Amino acid sequence: MKILVIPGDGIGQEVTTWGRKVIEKIAVKFGHSVSFDEALMGHVAIEATGNPLPDETLEKAHKSDAILFGAIGHIKYDNDPTAKVRPEQGLLKIRKELGLYANLRPIKLFDELLGASSIKPEILKGADILFFRELTGDVYFGEKKRSEDRKTASDLMIYHQYEVERIAEKAFKAAQSRSKRLCSVDKANVLESSRLWRETVQELAKKYPDVTTEHMFIDNAAMQLIKDPKKFDVVLTANLFGDILTDEASQIAGSMGMLASASIGDKIGLYEPIHGSAHDIAGKGIANPLASILSVALMFEISFGLKKEADAVLDAVAATLKDGFRTKDIADSTTSAFNILGTEAMGMKVLERI
Ligand code: NAD
Repeated sequence: MKILVIPGDGIGQEVTTWGRKVIEKIAVKFGHSVSFDEALMGHVAIEATGNPLPDETLEKAHKSDAILFGAIGHIKYDNDPTAKVRPEQGLLKIRKELGLYANLRPIKLFDELLGASSIKPEILKGADILFFRELTGDVYFGEKKRSEDRKTASDLMIYHQYEVERIAEKAFKAAQSRSKRLCSVDKANVLESSRLWRETVQELAKKYPDVTTEHMFIDNAAMQLIKDPKKFDVVLTANLFGDILTDEASQIAGSMGMLASASIGDKIGLYEPIHGSAHDIAGKGIANPLASILSVALMFEISFGLKKEADAVLDAVAATLKDGFRTKDIADSTTSAFNILGTEAMGMKVLERI
C-alpha cells in the first residue's frame, strides 16, 4: 500500500498525524506492508511554493494507491475575498485532476454519543445515513464572473447529464446493499440544473426497481434531516447542497470532528474528515482526531477491500468512546473532567485499543 499523506493546514496537520499512526498500527497487526509519502496543499503550499497544489503533490498523488488528507484553509484568505490565490483552489483542483466525483459521507451515531448532540436522543437513536455528494461540478467549477464596476457577480451552477448519471449509479448500487431507499435532493422547482438532475435520476431509477426513490427539495430536506433523521438512508445530492447538508448532518453524529469521508471516482481514493482547518482551535491540541481515524477505516474498506481492518478501526473507536473518553467537542454534562482528552491522548487511546 502506497499512501500519500497531505496534512494541509490548521487542525488538518494535527488530526492527520493520528490517521497515519492508525494505518501504521493496523498494518503491523494484520501484516500489511505500507509505505508513506507526504505532500503540501493549501496555505502551507502557497507559503512554500506560491501554488496551493504544487505539481509535485499532484505527481505524488498519481503514484499513490490512496490519499489521506487533512484540511485546508487559513484565516487570512477567509478575511480577504479579493485574494487571487487561495488554499481551497488546491483542493478543488486535486478533486478534478483525480476524477474524484463522488464524496461518500456516512453519518452514523455511536450510541455513546447520544447525549453529545443538540438533537433529542429519541429522535437520533438508530440514525444511519450515507450521503453521496457530487464533487466535481456545480457552482464550484462553473464560470465565475464579476462586472467591470465589481458591483455584480455570478457563479454558474452547471451540470452535465453524465456527471449526474455516474454518481447516481453509485448511490443506487449503495442503496441496493443497504435498506433499498434513496432520496435525491435538489431544487427542481427553481433551478434548471436541478431539473436535469431530477430527470436523470428518475430515468436511472427505472434500472433499479428494487430501490424506492424519493425526490426532495433541499429546503425541505434540511428541515426533515433534523426533524426525523431516521427517515433517510442513502441521500444523493449535488456539490453545494451536499456540502451544506452534511455539515448540518454532522450534528446527528455529535460533532464535525466525528464525520469521515471518502472521495472516489476513476481510480485513486482520497480520504478526509469533512471539517475544515478550524482556525478557532488550531494549535491548541484539542481537535478531535476521530474523523481522520474514521476516514482511515473508509480507506481500508473502499480502496483496499480490507473489511476486517476497517472494522478493527471502527471497533477501537467504539471501545474508546465506550470507556468514556471524549474530546471537548463530543463531551457532555455526564463526562468526567478526567476523561476529556486532547488530540494526542485521544489518538493514543484508539491506538491502544487496536
Ligand atoms: P471548520 O470545519 O474548520 O470548523 C467549524 C467548527 O467546527 C469550528 O468551531 C471548529 O472548531 C469545529 N471543528 C471542526 N473540526 C473539528 C474537530 N476535528 N474537532 C473539534 N472541533 C472541530 O469550518 P470553518 O470554521 O467554516 O472553516 C475554517 C477554514 O477551513 C476555512 O478557511 C475554510 O475555508 C476551510 N474549510 C476547509 C475544508 C476542507 O479542507 N475540506 C472544509 C471546510 C472548510
